[in-house]
Amino acid sequence: MIRANVIKWTAIASLVVFLFTGSLTMTGDKALAADCSNGYVALTYDDGPNPNNTVTLLNALQQNGLRATFFNLGQNAQNNPSLVNQQKAAGMWIGNHSWSHPHLTQLTTSQMSSEVTNTQTTLQSITGTAPKLFRPPYGETNATLKSIEAQNGLTEVLWNVDSQDWNGASTAQIVNAVGTMQNGDVILMHDQYQTTVQAIPQIAQNLKNRGLCSGMISTSTGRVVAPDSGGTTPTPTPTPSSTPSPGTSTKIEAENMTKGGQYTANISSPFSGVALYANNDLVKYTQNFSSGTHNFSLRGASNNSTMARVDLKIGGVTKGTFYFGGSSPAVYTLNNVSHGTGNQEIQLVVTADNGTWDAYLDYLEIQ
Ligand code: ZN
Repeated sequence: MIRANVIKWTAIASLVVFLFTGSLTMTGDKALAADCSNGYVALTYDDGPNPNNTVTLLNALQQNGLRATFFNLGQNAQNNPSLVNQQKAAGMWIGNHSWSHPHLTQLTTSQMSSEVTNTQTTLQSITGTAPKLFRPPYGETNATLKSIEAQNGLTEVLWNVDSQDWNGASTAQIVNAVGTMQNGDVILMHDQYQTTVQAIPQIAQNLKNRGLCSGMISTSTGRVVAPDSGGTTPTPTPTPSSTPSPGTSTKIEAENMTKGGQYTANISSPFSGVALYANNDLVKYTQNFSSGTHNFSLRGASNNSTMARVDLKIGGVTKGTFYFGGSSPAVYTLNNVSHGTGNQEIQLVVTADNGTWDAYLDYLEIQ
């Protein structure tokens, strides 16, 4: 009993000290904290990157000290990889918005999956990081899509304020929509319209007047939070999408590549990966190379004691074969493979199947 009382009073005394210290700290940091005293909102721009708009949009955001999340389309990213890297270099966050902007819930599961995973693979090969946020086109979602998102490590992000920029809203109407935002709100805009770009200086002023800041969307909760780099904008140095460069390595999980062939499927044992069951089953993705020679290491296994064979094709040309002599996962390396530079399609494909083995693929590493 005595002991309990001591603890109780110690706890209360600590709490008093904590509260007092807390208020002192807040006073001391007031100048720094004042701008965001009413919290954070998320600005989001969908459907890019767009060669007619993205650079202007990024410049406007940076000039006004704003950061935003860009939900890119995979096909636009593939066609404009440097714009994706400029988004990243400008301190923006990058999310997945499907490959071609279909009504996803009207597609088959496998089509739905391709829309999501192809975009993951492409954005990862451009930026080096797979997105963690996904916004379904038209905000249309269902249980199947949510499960595909989960398989890809994606958190679904919708919005609760619609700028209506897609519906012909004027710059003033877009600014008014931002004017309704409160702490934690997410606004839908697009990387496409002049009205949207022209709204940015007034958006910045509006938020500032109301003690709100542009925040990031938490990849774990999908909620708006303070930017994790303390709100500072990284130096805007556009980086070319040239990976891997000498001395570095790029590792791509087989399950994040695009599946092709008749039977190719994900597996969870002996590792998270992909199984190729028959001739022409494959996984593929696009890699940007700045130089023309690399070592390619594939971790994989056979499904039994029979040797499995998987060919490496780059730009449509067979460059070698990976051999897996048994069911224990192993890394097989093809050294000094010459190939084209720039964007090259990499395929891991079965061509020597004789019905006695299946190939399990874990990851490809390029050095
Ligand atoms: Zn969209």
